[in-house]
Amino acid sequence: MRRTVDLDALRQVLCAALGSREPVCALSRLGLGVGAFTEDDVLHRPTLVAGAAGHGPTSPAPAAHDVDALIRRAAESAAAQILVPRVRRTDDTGALRAAGFVPVAAGAECVVRLSGDVDALLRGRIGAERLDDLHRRSRAVSDDLSWERIPLSGLDERPWARDAFVDLHGGLLDAAALGALRQSHLADRAELLVRRRGETVVQAGLLVGSHSGRGLYCLALTTDRDDPADRHDLHAVSLYQVYVEARRDGLDWVHLGQGEAEHGRALGADLFVPLDHWLRTPGLATPEQAPAEQAPAVPEISRFASLPVTTVAVPGPARFRHRPRFDLVDLSSNTNPLLGPGGRYPELDTTDLARTYLTTVAGLPGHDGIGALTTDHLLFSSGSVDAVMLLLTALTSPGDRVCVTPPTFELYAHFAQVLRLPVVEVPLGGDDVNRLDVERILAADPRVTILCDPNNPVGTRLDPEQVHELIARTQGLVVIDEAYVEFSDKPSYAGLVAGHDNLIVLRTLSKAWGLAGARCGIALAQPGIIEGLRRVQVPFGFTDASQHAVRERLVDVRRVRDSIGHILAERDRMAALLAEHPTVDRVFPSQANFLLVRLHKHEQVMDRLRAAGILVADVGRLVPGTCRISIGERHANEALLDALTAAL
Ligand code: PMP
Repeated sequence: MRRTVDLDALRQVLCAALGSREPVCALSRLGLGVGAFTEDDVLHRPTLVAGAAGHGPTSPAPAAHDVDALIRRAAESAAAQILVPRVRRTDDTGALRAAGFVPVAAGAECVVRLSGDVDALLRGRIGAERLDDLHRRSRAVSDDLSWERIPLSGLDERPWARDAFVDLHGGLLDAAALGALRQSHLADRAELLVRRRGETVVQAGLLVGSHSGRGLYCLALTTDRDDPADRHDLHAVSLYQVYVEARRDGLDWVHLGQGEAEHGRALGADLFVPLDHWLRTPGLATPEQAPAEQAPAVPEISRFASLPVTTVAVPGPARFRHRPRFDLVDLSSNTNPLLGPGGRYPELDTTDLARTYLTTVAGLPGHDGIGALTTDHLLFSSGSVDAVMLLLTALTSPGDRVCVTPPTFELYAHFAQVLRLPVVEVPLGGDDVNRLDVERILAADPRVTILCDPNNPVGTRLDPEQVHELIARTQGLVVIDEAYVEFSDKPSYAGLVAGHDNLIVLRTLSKAWGLAGARCGIALAQPGIIEGLRRVQVPFGFTDASQHAVRERLVDVRRVRDSIGHILAERDRMAALLAEHPTVDRVFPSQANFLLVRLHKHEQVMDRLRAAGILVADVGRLVPGTCRISIGERHANEALLDALTAAL
């Protein structure tokens, strides 16, 4: 069983603390959120504790033969009830359930996954302001308190540390328990963490290295109740120091024990695995009344998914992305572990990042309704163009028509063609080239219609009434590529996704978010569609470096919004100047970060710009006589204007 080695040792510690061969005691003594058990007699009955309640990490969910052994041991030791504390909700708890155990929600284990620079990482997770605050408090605390990590083997020379630790912890982590820990195989990787003011110990904790050698459990960090320093502050400051040292030692994670996700998040945790205590006791709710197994279910595949996608599973380890992998000894991937962290595959569990994206975007204007989306409505792809390929692959069958509305982003038709799907073009109309011909699209009966809004290369927005009509009336899927929507003052369609099973909204970090190099696209759709896309996605495309860059950028949203403001001001300035320029026939209205410009002498001007080393997109084949000019930095925009003047 996973983690058993450590748990057995910690169980010995518990036995020692309880002064018995078997760990039997009343729940009220264990200090593990027993408020969850409301009935008084349940709290006071003798209980056999399987695992390492009080100070241990999670217990593996026992298999049927382990459960039988537990029941026998409980009978031998005259324990009326059995507790298996802190079982991950993602574990298979069938045997517990079958034996009449009942889950009692107990919060989550909170894990801080470490990579790169600790400060950069925390800035991404808790924000620059709170990080500054943490630095300030750290400086103040280090002036006032010493910092020591004492290996258990060194306790004989420092009896004061052992005494202070026992004193601060009282209860279960007593001298006998510490003694048992020193006798166990954990002794070599356990240390006391002690902070002192002068001779007085004000904080003490136990740090235990994981059996994988890659992480650290911070098991019982306790602060003197009488210490005038703000207990909460000192806790955060000490953990910060633990992170810094763990990172310095090349570790990948620090386990903060069990707690509320919000509390853990404020300490920089980014992985939360829901835990339950499982209790078997006379008279408690029967399993039928207990909360249902909450391991993430595979969503039912969308009605739009096609064969063979409907019949296959998500490939490779990506299938288990919600299963916590942080504390495993991973000998499954055939990689070279000797050359540093680059040898490991990227993190697959991007749930926390997805949550950060949704909450960040929900705060942007024009995003009403996005609060209804969960992380199951979101898939990160390798840029948004990758999502186009995924959805065409997962959701079409040979012969299905794909409708595009030229002039538009050419890769939609390109991908449809390479997938041998017939492409139907229904051109946009109107002066601003933004009127859909809804009836013609419907008449073509496409499996997928791909809209681009704001549209590249024109820059205008579609009429929302027409878009709504299309979503409501088509038999197929509507994909709306919102690569540029952050530059628009009109709303996104993302909020509609929760209510429409035929809508996919594509977003990207490449444009307004300034992260084209991170290759991060986002597909928003109902979970059944996301499941279909996951089944065709190549695993491990979202690298740790990209995930890191995306997180950093998402929490720096103010800077992003400021930059968008500058770009919009510059766009309007450029639009006015270009409209007056003698080489220019028309500047199309833009809701994006580029301008579509029709030139009087298109070919001649394009040649001159090329000769002057100015690169703009020649989109004359899409809209005759035009080029598409991105809004750049002021000097680049001025260089373009100068080159246009020289082209006269
Ligand atoms: N969609 C549109 C409309 C675009 O213009 C572009 C970039 N030119 C993309 C998608 C590509 O975005 P990404 O970098 O996310 O693949």
